Amino acid sequence: MGKIITLDEGTINKIAAGEVVERPASVVKELVENSIDAGASRINVEVKNGGVSFIKVIDNGSGIEEDDVIIAFERHSTSKIKHSDDLSSILSLGFRGEALASIAAVSKVEMVTRTLNKPYGIQIYVQGGNIEYIKQTGAPVGTSVIVKDLFFNTPARFKFLKKDTTEGGYVSDIISRIALSNPGISFKLVSNGATIIHTPGNNDLLSTIVSIYGTDIGKSVIEISYKDDLIRITGYAGGAEISRSNRNYQSLFVNGRYVKSKLVTSAIDEAYRTYLMKNRFAFIVLKIEIDPSAIDVNVHPAKMEVRFSDEQSIYRAVYHAVNNALSRGSKIIEVKTEKETFFKESSPGYVNQDIQAQPGQNLYKYSPDKQSPVVQNRVQKNEDIENESLRNLEAQNSISRDITGAHIIGQLFSTYVLLQKDDYLLIIDQHAAHERIIFEEMKSRFSSNKPMSQTLMVPVVINLTHQEIKTLDENKEFFNRLGFIYEEFGNNSIVIRAVPYGGCDGNEKEMFLELLDIVTSPVKENNNIITDRALYKIACKVAVKANMNLDNKETLEMLKKLSGLGNPYTCPHGRPTIIKISKDELEKMFKRRL
Ligand code: ADP
Ligand code: MG
Repeated sequence: MGKIITLDEGTINKIAAGEVVERPASVVKELVENSIDAGASRINVEVKNGGVSFIKVIDNGSGIEEDDVIIAFERHSTSKIKHSDDLSSILSLGFRGEALASIAAVSKVEMVTRTLNKPYGIQIYVQGGNIEYIKQTGAPVGTSVIVKDLFFNTPARFKFLKKDTTEGGYVSDIISRIALSNPGISFKLVSNGATIIHTPGNNDLLSTIVSIYGTDIGKSVIEISYKDDLIRITGYAGGAEISRSNRNYQSLFVNGRYVKSKLVTSAIDEAYRTYLMKNRFAFIVLKIEIDPSAIDVNVHPAKMEVRFSDEQSIYRAVYHAVNNALSRGSKIIEVKTEKETFFKESSPGYVNQDIQAQPGQNLYKYSPDKQSPVVQNRVQKNEDIENESLRNLEAQNSISRDITGAHIIGQLFSTYVLLQKDDYLLIIDQHAAHERIIFEEMKSRFSSNKPMSQTLMVPVVINLTHQEIKTLDENKEFFNRLGFIYEEFGNNSIVIRAVPYGGCDGNEKEMFLELLDIVTSPVKENNNIITDRALYKIACKVAVKANMNLDNKETLEMLKKLSGLGNPYTCPHGRPTIIKISKDELEKMFKRRL
């Protein structure tokens, strides 16, 4: 006798449920997406025990027609597509027709639904996939679904659930993302009786962000708005001060669907490269709208991955959308007395934000250089310079009103320039500032193809591999445009006769090899990014180092250049160039006021 049998419908549904229903959050996601597809403007979600014992989703959407209620619980039954052709033009969130059947197979589901054209609603109760009853009932227009005892009949799956609080966290995470993608809908999440999320539903993304993440994040974000023939990108990008050490605060939506995409994430990272320190990740809400035929969402439902047909264009568009927003809106880091979480990983020479009162001391030390004497007598004051700086800087019609009109107080530790502007003390890291200035100058000279070389008094010979010589051959124009003039010198060697303007202090060889590494990097990147990287490298080498005395003229020159930049606030590696401390904060530190 044969061993193969056809599985019964109940078993098939239980197996299929594993695909769609992994945990309470996936149930919440499916139910809420159904409410959105039904045109709801208000969706209330209530969970108990992280959703394991109880989930309720109430919407004011279209409701389900009486004749469709039973069918809605069958597998592959959907009102959203009719033919496979429709898959390429999908705009609804659901379309597989699996969710209700899958959820009902592994829990106890009660649904009450009413359409506008009927004076009564329908109540249906399905337990473990079996319809226990269906009847007419009084109900408001819309749908409410209660899901109890998830995985009550599949103990193996139940065992995989995490602690209630963890599951509850997943639920609030998914509601946050869905709310962000639908600012026109008011979402409320109540967990064990407490309201966790409540969004206004006023169609304004910024107020939705504020209602979910709070006002600090709301204040820091910059609007993203980009459009080309293929794509429209909108959203909000956070400044460095609200960056995080993981990607939890990054939400990507493609045509209203919350998705993950390595491609988009890496374009975001690249756009932030000069704004964030290493291992910091931006807060960002990014919405991509694109012709549905240019993407594939018909991938594994739980993975939420999306594929784009034209990856290059998407990458470029995201990079520019985010980068444009950042160069428009970056800010100076403000020092606060209370502990801040940002910029914990300060690098050597970089002024840490921790400025704390030392009990019994009148002075405050600037960490991290604990050994440095707290020198105030080296701070020079010069009235002439003050006045000149005022006149010169005010003449610059740049966005850097923070710098413009500032008084130069002097230089500190031969590393920082101190300025007074209104009620603020501005501290400029001269190396970081210089790096940014050189980087921007080089970038503009590079793009306008202006020569940027400086001839070496003594040419430098470098030995390379055959492969490297070949790479150089292919990239000769690029190296020339960066400022390197060289020729082959036989036996796989080259002789360098000129280097990028500004020189590299006898480190010509090192710099050249580092640039060669960038060009030969196995990671495929677009040309703009390679150029930027090369220019950062050069800027860093050429920039005035910390611990170098600047005279007043040099300081003024640096400030003038800095104030003329689109982004004077961070060095090309993302470290801040300027921080500020308010008079208010100083007074608090000196306990002049509370
Ligand atoms: P899908 O969303 O993929 O179509 P589901 O199993 O989630 O599949 O839902 C099946 C059908 O039930 C939907 O196509 C829709 O017609 C209907 N439905 C489910 N939930 C709701 C709701 N909250 N409001 C109105 N209709 C709903
Ligand atoms: Mg659905």
